[in-house]
Amino acid sequence: MSELGSLFPSNTSSLYVVATPLGNLGDLTSRARAILGAADIVAAEDTRHSQRLLDAFGIKAKLVAAHRHNEEEVAARIVGWLDEGRQVALISDAGTPAISDPGARIVARVRQAGHAVVPVPGACAAIAALSVAGFGEGGFRFAGFLPVKTAARQAMLSVWAKEHDMLVFYEAPHRVVDTLADMAKVLGGEREVLIARELTKLHEDIAVMALADAPSWFAADAHRLRGEFVLVVRGAPVRAAHEDIGIEVERVLDLLLAELPLKSAVRLAAEITGAPKKALYGRALARQSEAEEGEDKHFRNVK
Ligand code: SAM
Repeated sequence: MSELGSLFPSNTSSLYVVATPLGNLGDLTSRARAILGAADIVAAEDTRHSQRLLDAFGIKAKLVAAHRHNEEEVAARIVGWLDEGRQVALISDAGTPAISDPGARIVARVRQAGHAVVPVPGACAAIAALSVAGFGEGGFRFAGFLPVKTAARQAMLSVWAKEHDMLVFYEAPHRVVDTLADMAKVLGGEREVLIARELTKLHEDIAVMALADAPSWFAADAHRLRGEFVLVVRGAPVRAAHEDIGIEVERVLDLLLAELPLKSAVRLAAEITGAPKKALYGRALARQSEAEEGEDKHFRNVK
């Protein structure tokens, strides 16, 4: 019987989706280690790569390949092993399986076959980068890798240009500068980005800057172009939404101006719409002088 029985009281045969370190071996959790050591089979994206991880921990495991090109086929084999009562673990090269990595099809197939799928959480580059972005506690959209071609990449970015949530991307070193240039073009150069390079590794480098400043950041040190990258882009400012509904904000302001003194109308309009008071005040003064001009004209005509 597998040692997993002592790790998990239910003792049913299950697929364990296990996160492995991004670089720092200290990030393999003790639970992950125990499960990899106890599983009857460990399905790995790259068996040679994962063998080194298992060796580092002295874990003896039967490794089988589970990559993008054999996912369907290996899913069927995993279901077979689970049917026989064996315990199976799934790992990718680094981080959490099925996050911009193979695994989702295996998970779906195993669940469809009626077996339990158990997450064994740990490192994930996107979450690690988000945790140090400091861009607020709002939501985020995990976008993974953008299209390789510029036109498709810009088109995709423009879909998210007004998103208030943070945007999280994975990017390869040979594309990161072009991608950041497209981001500046589509999202605006003033938008902030966190560049997280080589997370948890020896040359870890984390920097926050305006998108427009990214080219000079890379130009300042050639080493910065090496390694693996996560880009976290701050969400579109809430102000942008008010600019979009300018007509609606003006309508609210006009209604209030018709009933209230200017200062009160501006204060209430700001509270109702969330639009900046300064902009509302300017607009209210302009409305007032337009109205006075109209009255003057009327008066001259009457005379
Ligand atoms: N499943 C993984 C996870 O949980 O993060 C992601 C796998 S995806 C194929 C690989 C990409 O993740 C890299 O190209 C890079 O964008 C990002 N990544 C992985 N390790 C990283 C690290 N140590 N530092 C920064 N980014 C990393």
